[in-house]
Amino acid sequence: MTISHSYSDRLTRERRARLRAERMYEQMRHELRIANDQLKAHAFSLSDQIIAQRAELSAVRSHAETLEGENTQVAQDLQAAHGAADLANLRLREAVETLRDGFAVFDRDNLLVLANRAWLGTFRDFPEVQPGISYRRVVEICAYEDLVDLEGSTPEDWSRRMLARWDGGAVEPVEMHFRTGVSVRLVDRRVANGDMVSLVHNITETLRYQRDLIAAQEKAEAAAEAKSAFLANMSHEIRTPMNGVVGMSELLAETDLDAEQRACVETICSSGEALVQIINDILDFSKMDAGRMDLHAAPFDLEKTIHDVLTLLAATARAKGIELILDHDMFLPQSMLGDAGRVRQILTNLVGNALKFTESGYVLVRAVGVGAADGGHLVNITVEDTGIGIAAQDQGLIFTEFSQVEASSNRRYEGTGLGLAITRRIVDAMDGKIWVESEPGVGSCFGVSLVLGADPDAPGAASVPEAPGVRAALIVSDHLISREILSRRLTACDVTVATATQKDVALRIVAQTSPDLVIVDQDLPGRAALEILAALHADHPGLTVVMLCSCTSEARAALQGGQLRAVLPKPLLWRDLVQVLAPDSATLPRRADPTPPLTPAAGRPWRVLYAEDNKTNRMVFARMLAPLGLEVHVVEDGQSAVERAAEIVPDIIFMDVSMPRMDGREATRRIRATEAGRDVPIIALTAHALREEVERIMEVGMNAMLTKPLRKTELLQALTDHLPGAVPPGDGSDAPPPG
Ligand code: ADP
Repeated sequence: MTISHSYSDRLTRERRARLRAERMYEQMRHELRIANDQLKAHAFSLSDQIIAQRAELSAVRSHAETLEGENTQVAQDLQAAHGAADLANLRLREAVETLRDGFAVFDRDNLLVLANRAWLGTFRDFPEVQPGISYRRVVEICAYEDLVDLEGSTPEDWSRRMLARWDGGAVEPVEMHFRTGVSVRLVDRRVANGDMVSLVHNITETLRYQRDLIAAQEKAEAAAEAKSAFLANMSHEIRTPMNGVVGMSELLAETDLDAEQRACVETICSSGEALVQIINDILDFSKMDAGRMDLHAAPFDLEKTIHDVLTLLAATARAKGIELILDHDMFLPQSMLGDAGRVRQILTNLVGNALKFTESGYVLVRAVGVGAADGGHLVNITVEDTGIGIAAQDQGLIFTEFSQVEASSNRRYEGTGLGLAITRRIVDAMDGKIWVESEPGVGSCFGVSLVLGADPDAPGAASVPEAPGVRAALIVSDHLISREILSRRLTACDVTVATATQKDVALRIVAQTSPDLVIVDQDLPGRAALEILAALHADHPGLTVVMLCSCTSEARAALQGGQLRAVLPKPLLWRDLVQVLAPDSATLPRRADPTPPLTPAAGRPWRVLYAEDNKTNRMVFARMLAPLGLEVHVVEDGQSAVERAAEIVPDIIFMDVSMPRMDGREATRRIRATEAGRDVPIIALTAHALREEVERIMEVGMNAMLTKPLRKTELLQALTDHLPGAVPPGDGSDAPPPG
C-alpha cells in the first residue's frame, strides 16, 4: 500500500507539476507572444525607419552624384578655358613676334611686362633689359649708353623729355635715330587698365625713300629750271632775229610796193608773227609746266581789254571777210580787279582760234555779268563763231596738250595744239571755268567764267550808258547781230533807233525821220557805204555821220572830205562813240589820226637815248621812230649809255637788258644814282618774258618793259605814256596796209 500511495502522490505531484509547467508555459507563451508582438511592432517601425532612411540616403547619394558630375564639368571647362587662354596667349606672342616693329607693354607702374624680340633686340647688349625693367631705366640706357643720336641734347635733357612725354596725357609720337643707322618712330598709348602699349615702327626705309624722293624732286626741279632757262634763252635767241624780221617787214609794208611785193612782205610779216606766237606758246607752256604761273590782280578795264584784243585781230578778220563783234554788258563796272595780261591771253587764244577756224560769217565776243561772287563779279565771256565746229567726241580732248582735231600732216590749219591747254591752265589758276559748245559745220562757242574782283576805287554801280545829244539814230549795216547790239545800247540811252541794210532804205529813213545820228557800217556790199556818205553829205550837210570801219585808211578820204564826223574802228568800243558825240569832242577820234610827229618838248624835239648791241634791232628801232621827229641817240652798250646819259640828259631812255661790257640793269643802276638820271623814264627792252626776269628788271628802277620783237604801236604807246605832255600818236601801224 505505501507504494500505491506514493505512486498516486507522485502522479498528483507530477500532474500538478505538469499543470504548473503548463501554466508557466502558457504564461511564457503569452508573454512571448506579447514580446513577439512588441518585437514585431518594433521591427515594423524599424523597417519603416530603414526604408525612410534608405530613401533619404538614395536622395543624398543622387544629389552627391549630381554634384560630383557638376564638379567634373567645371573642372573640364576650367581645363578647356586654360587651354584656350594658353592658345590665345601663344597666338598673341607669335603674332607679336612676327611683327618687324618693336612691341612692348609696360604696366601701370611702368615696368616692362612683355616685349617682342624686335624690341628686345635693340638692347641685346644689355641683359638687364627684360620683363620687370622700368621704363625709366630703358630711357637711361638709350641716353647714357650712346645708343641713340640725341640730336644735340644732353643725356639728362633727352631723358627728361622722354619721361615727361610718357607721363603726359596724350603721348605724341616721336622719332628716334639709333647709332646703328636704324630710325624708329615711337607710338605709345596708355590703355584702359593703365598699361602702356608701345609700338616702335622701323622707319629707316621710309626715311631713305623720302630722302631719295626729295633728291629726285630737287633734281627734277633743277632739270625743269634748266629747261625753262634753256627755253628762255632760246626764245631770247630766236626773238632777237625775229625782231628784225617782223619789224623790218612791218616797215617795208609801209613803203610803196607793187601787189606781188606786198603779198611777199605780208607773208613774211604774218609768218614771223606766227613764229613769235609759237615761241610764246612754248615758253608759256613750259613756265606753267614748271608751276610758275603767277597771277597779279590789279584794276583793269575789261571792255577795253577785250576791245584791244579784237583790234589786234581785226586785220585778220577783215582779210577773211569775217565780222568781228563785241557785245559788252553795259552794266558791268568799267574797272574790276584781275590779271589783265592773262585775261588778254585767254581772249587772244579763243578769238584767234575762232578766226582761224572760221571761213565766213562772224565772231562774236560777249561779256556778261552773271552775278556777284566772293565779293567780286562773276563774268561770263563767250566767243562764238560760225566756223567748222568740233565733233562732240573731240570736244573733251582739245583742252589737253598738243591735241588738234583731224591732226595729220596735211592739216589745213597751223598751230601747236597748245593754245587751249594754256588757256585752260590760266582759267584754272584763276579759279574759273572753261567750256565749249559746238556743232560741226555750224560753229563753236567757247565760254569762260571768271570771278573778277570789285575795284574799291571804281565808281560804285555801273554808269548808265549815255549818248549825248542824240534822240533818234539810224544804223545802216547788213549785219543783223551788230545792228541789234548797237541798237540795244542806243535804246538803253533813250534813243529812238531805226535800222537799214541798204542805201535806198537808209536815205529814205533819213529823209522821213531826220535822225540826229547816222551810223554807217563800212562793210556794206560794194561801195554802198561810201555812196551813202556822199548822198548824206549832199542832202543833209549838218548831219552827224559816223562810220564803223575795219580799215580806217580807206575811210580817211571820206573823213577828210568832211562827210564824216568820225571814223570808229570795228568792233565798236561804246565809249569811243560817246566821246565823238560829246559836244566838246574833237571831230577826229584818236584812232583815225594819221601818225603825227610827237609834240616837241619845250620847243625842242624829245631826246631819246637808245642802248642796244644788236645791229638789226638798232635799225628797226630807228626806223620805227623816224616819222616822229625825235632826236634819237644810239649807243651799243651799258657803259656808253651811262656816259651818254650824263652828256645829253635824255627825256627817255630805251635800254636793252643784255648787252656786253655792262648790261642794262647795271647801267640803269648807275644812271639812277646821278642827279640828272634820277627821274628819267627808262624802258627796258628784253626778249625774256619770264616773270622773275621782269621782277629783276623792275628792281633796278626801270619804269616799264617792252618785249622783243618790238611792235611799233607798243613803242609809241611807251613814248606817250612816259613822256609828259606828249600827244598820243595815231594808229595805222598795226593794221596791215590795204591789199
Ligand atoms: P591750235 O594751236 O591747234 O589752235 P589749240 O589748243 O588752240 O591749238 O586748239 C586745239 C584744237 O581745237 C585745234 O587744233 C582745233 O582742232 C580745235 N579748235 C579750237 N578752237 C576751235 C574753233 N573755234 N573751231 C573749231 N575747232 C577749234
